[in-house]
Amino acid sequence: MKKLLLAGLLTVLAAKPAMSQDFDFDEMTYTPEVTTFKLFAPAKAKGVKVRIYKDGQGGKPLKTVTMKASSPGQEGAVWTAAVKGDLMGRFYTFDTGHGETPGVFAKAVGVNGRRGAIINTMNTWPEDWCCDQHPVVKSPADLVVYELHHRDFSVARPDVKYPGKFLALTEPWAIDHLKQLGVNAVHILPSYDYGSVDETRLNEPQYNWGYDPVNYNVPEGGYSTDPYDPVCRLREFKQMVQALHKAGIAVILDVVYNHTYDIEHSNFQRTFPNYYYRVGSNGSGCGNETASEKPMMRKFMIESVKYWYNEFRIDGFRFDLMGCHDIETMNAIRKALDELDPSVFIYGEGWSAGQCALPAERLGVKANIPQMPRIAAFSDELRDALRGPFDDDTKTGWLGGAPDCEESLKFGIVGGISHPQVDMTKVNYSKQPWATEPTQMMAYVSCHDDMCLVDRLQASVPGITKEELIRLDLLAQTAVFTSQGVPFMLSGEELLRTKQGVHNSFESPDSINRLDWQNLKRFPNVFKYYKDLIRLRRDHPAFRLGNAQAVREHLEFLPSPPCTVAFRLKNHAGGDKWNTIVVVLNGSRQPQTVTLPEASYESICEQGAFNLNGINHFTSNSVTVQPQSATILHDCP
Ligand code: CA
Repeated sequence: MKKLLLAGLLTVLAAKPAMSQDFDFDEMTYTPEVTTFKLFAPAKAKGVKVRIYKDGQGGKPLKTVTMKASSPGQEGAVWTAAVKGDLMGRFYTFDTGHGETPGVFAKAVGVNGRRGAIINTMNTWPEDWCCDQHPVVKSPADLVVYELHHRDFSVARPDVKYPGKFLALTEPWAIDHLKQLGVNAVHILPSYDYGSVDETRLNEPQYNWGYDPVNYNVPEGGYSTDPYDPVCRLREFKQMVQALHKAGIAVILDVVYNHTYDIEHSNFQRTFPNYYYRVGSNGSGCGNETASEKPMMRKFMIESVKYWYNEFRIDGFRFDLMGCHDIETMNAIRKALDELDPSVFIYGEGWSAGQCALPAERLGVKANIPQMPRIAAFSDELRDALRGPFDDDTKTGWLGGAPDCEESLKFGIVGGISHPQVDMTKVNYSKQPWATEPTQMMAYVSCHDDMCLVDRLQASVPGITKEELIRLDLLAQTAVFTSQGVPFMLSGEELLRTKQGVHNSFESPDSINRLDWQNLKRFPNVFKYYKDLIRLRRDHPAFRLGNAQAVREHLEFLPSPPCTVAFRLKNHAGGDKWNTIVVVLNGSRQPQTVTLPEASYESICEQGAFNLNGINHFTSNSVTVQPQSATILHDCP
């Protein structure tokens, strides 16, 4: 305690005028004697003020203090005010003449994030927080990522204590489910403070994914048990991280720096009009687009991810519409995180949702992944080859028997890298391999966007029966989880989740978005298949080589009939105990036979069921795979 206070005091004393670029977004520094406020705002602003309040909303200011520009830069200046007295427990806003704002980097806020809050950070530490440790991740290839929305995951769980809250992920049923399934990384949909759920009306049904950031550096109040108490949301978020870490599960944060809900009311705009945006451009498809290439926006993003890592022990970041950010910024973020911990995983959507104001060659799009080492992007090649194109839910892919998808599947299976047996002229979206290493490719068939897998299969495969649906669901995930990319799944797919055909459920009610936990009992074999598939991957390094050269050396495609893809992982790939592993994916409605090197084999997966100890032992130079299913074999010495 003493040490911290002294450090805070020294910061205040050492606050010499500096260039605005040196400003590290410490907008509020508390000591019992004086609280110092700083804000990066236009140098020419007039009457910049900070107001102190008793509560997070309502009431008149207790104090209004005029700020002074202490370090004028070219465009911006750092405005400063020192407010004497002990402000612990108070709230504050800045005002540069465009409406009150908690600033751009508030670390604690009142209800709905309207005012910054002065709290004692130590009160946000759960018991034993000091002992919390990041799970050890040797390579991103070892990760199995599970993407969840807090409310979807827990709101309809019969035995839940904290439905829809951060704390739901501390409950034994939640941890048990994740551990049983075998995932080791949870990617949480936006969990910073967002605007579309009114935190003063949490007793009413409200739902949103949360891609409408308000305060980027504060957990969302709607997921806490008390959004009025600024300590509560921070503490409960940390309890969630702690519980997941104790179970060996990494926590990946979905970060949405590319846009804000609107420009007019955003904290960026109220603090420094037009600075943080590419004004007039809408690369996010959400009405506006931030300007990562501007020095202080870039710095904001860097400081923000560092803060989430340091303060909340976040293990990885998923960049929403990474294709809106410039390459230089993404690499600067990678570098800044490397200085803290090189095992922090970074991936993003390698596209934008509209035309960005920067030229494509400067942007963090998929094609530029070779210029962004150790940053991964989602493979829409694999996703759409499996389920069909993103722009038409009624069209199918390989799963529904569409022709000429095999090469795109192969591209996904090798992890998006260059491979002598993948003919890029036949791959759906990319004519060049874009991953330098397989750990730069996210392998997936569904995520929160678009239809979930069950709905897509129902929409795109005419007359599909329940049995066929299950077969194709399991087959799709087998392609994903045997890929050399980093496997990723949408929460609830293991329960045959349906969103009743809703394509974009960002504000749909719980009845659409919630996981139906009864499906665990209805479809126990589906859950078991997912579990065994994940276990296969986690037990066998051959599926997660994590290195392009090793993939080219050990992964060999076998000749196979149309609508099938067959490959083997040979010569104890990655030090695997099995010498050769054969995977045959059959998307057709007929049994298909694939020729193998003559050997003695043990099958571990056939006809939609696993037995990792072995199903069938046989000696042959071929294998016949049942319709719409995968067969996985290993050879026997
Ligand atoms: Ca909020």
